[in-house]
Amino acid sequence: MALRVIIVGGSIAGLTLAHSLRACHIDYLVLEAKADIAPAVGASIGILPNGARILDQLGIWPAIGQHIAPLHQSFVWSSAGRLIVRSDHPRLIHERHAYPFAFLDRRILLKILYEQLGLQQERVHLNKRVVRVGHVADGVVAHCEDGSVFAGDLVVGADGVRSTVLQEMRRQNAKSILDVGHRGSAMQSEYSCLFGISNPVPGLHAGDGHFTYAKGYSTLTVVGKDDRVFWFLFTKMSQSYDADHIPRFTEEDLQRHVARYGHVPISDTVPLSAVSERIQAGSLHALEEAFAPVWTVDRIACVGDAIHKMTPNIGQGGNSAIETVAALANHLASLRRKTPDRAPSLTELKTCLQTWQTERHDRAHKVWSAANAATRMEAGDTLYHRIIGQYMLPYLGSYLTDGMSELIKGAEKLDFLPVPARSLAGSIPYTSEGATSEMEVGMGRAWFRWMWVAVLVGAVWRLCVVCLVGADVLQCGIF
Ligand SMILES: Cc1cc2nc3c(=O)[nH]c(=O)nc-3n(C[C@H](O)[C@H](O)[C@H](O)COP(=O)(O)OP(=O)(O)OC[C@H]3O[C@@H](n4cnc5c(N)ncnc54)[C@H](O)[C@@H]3O)c2cc1C
Repeated sequence: MALRVIIVGGSIAGLTLAHSLRACHIDYLVLEAKADIAPAVGASIGILPNGARILDQLGIWPAIGQHIAPLHQSFVWSSAGRLIVRSDHPRLIHERHAYPFAFLDRRILLKILYEQLGLQQERVHLNKRVVRVGHVADGVVAHCEDGSVFAGDLVVGADGVRSTVLQEMRRQNAKSILDVGHRGSAMQSEYSCLFGISNPVPGLHAGDGHFTYAKGYSTLTVVGKDDRVFWFLFTKMSQSYDADHIPRFTEEDLQRHVARYGHVPISDTVPLSAVSERIQAGSLHALEEAFAPVWTVDRIACVGDAIHKMTPNIGQGGNSAIETVAALANHLASLRRKTPDRAPSLTELKTCLQTWQTERHDRAHKVWSAANAATRMEAGDTLYHRIIGQYMLPYLGSYLTDGMSELIKGAEKLDFLPVPARSLAGSIPYTSEGATSEMEVGMGRAWFRWMWVAVLVGAVWRLCVVCLVGADVLQCGIF
């Protein structure tokens, strides 16, 4: 029997892995806890070029394209509704990397991912909450809450931020987890996010993105197809929580939050209350941040939010999940090529999974750090962030676009599938295509210049503070 993979979790990571394994002829099944593969919870998702190219390789992008209005321009507003900067950043990214910023209902993306499995939808088992994972002589077994049991060669936890599979991995191999010296972070939560999808709002137009940068909060609003409004309010909570104490909010909390921040400008003419009044569905959540140091032990691996949970401000959580899945599928495909007629041995599997983690780790960590840093910059976490966000931003436009390009062009792809012709139409090639154009080199230089500007400004600022007030003041977090 050839390699068989049990995927735990049927969301963005799990269903993308299902498509990827189907494409390289690896046997799989999906165990999803919920009864509905695509519930309507008011969440949206932005697919960026790094995720879009992989979904295009899998033949899924055209269906997504029918539900989106590409983002063209963005506006950043202050808490007083003053325009900080207008930018063509989204259009430039589209031209450079061949795919737009594409916002749609998360429910629609999940429905597309599921439906496009065609006959293999029967491999997706709903109402199957995995509660335990156990190693047996020559395989691994997933035990579900309802008593059912599924056996395979590898269990992949695509079960989100509170991953049962990651906990099982930790439980089974606590020592090796602690022994590994990779960079990682324990889960914490410092920001909350109120998000929703609203009916069209006068003054907000399809293709526009609006940001509000303020002290202690920020907003992100994207106007999608048919003027549907996808919106987010990020607020710094009164304290930072560890994994065991992250708050859960009630409907009353949500209503209080809406009332408190109703006056916040989404744009110069539209307050948050105008958007929240037209809400179809929404929710208030604490945002977890965590990066697991170990992604695989023996016959278990985890992907997506289970291992790299980031804040949503730069829209990379789901896109990073798609990339991590693509990288894993590449390694499993090459393992299958080596062992076409039999299941791989434990040693072969472990080597394959370790190589995957080693190769994927640094890029995933870079994106994770950038996302969490963006949340703090946009919500003016310290005076330094506020100076960058409120005053330097108008002068950093092309640097930020170049920084985003730098991040996107190094994206993973599925090595065993052809690169879509569409993806070659951008003015900056993805690095996995090889050739480095003059423009790309220029972009790289610009990105490094911006990095240096930011570092220099930070250093000079802190030096001034230390000279004027004394070193102790840096500990208080204001700076
Ligand atoms: C407000 C908000 C906005 C966001 N916006 C964006 C964006 O614009 N772009 C972007 O790229 N990302 C965005 N993200 C992040 C993105 O939603 C996540 O990174 C992404 O959903 C991760 O996918 P996942 O499949 O790893 O996990 P999840 O989407 O959390 O899915 C986990 C799945 O596993 C199932 N499950 C859990 N436990 C079990 C179990 N024991 N057994 C079986 N099944 C189980 C769950 O029911 C669920 O279906 C946003 C996140 C938030 C909170």
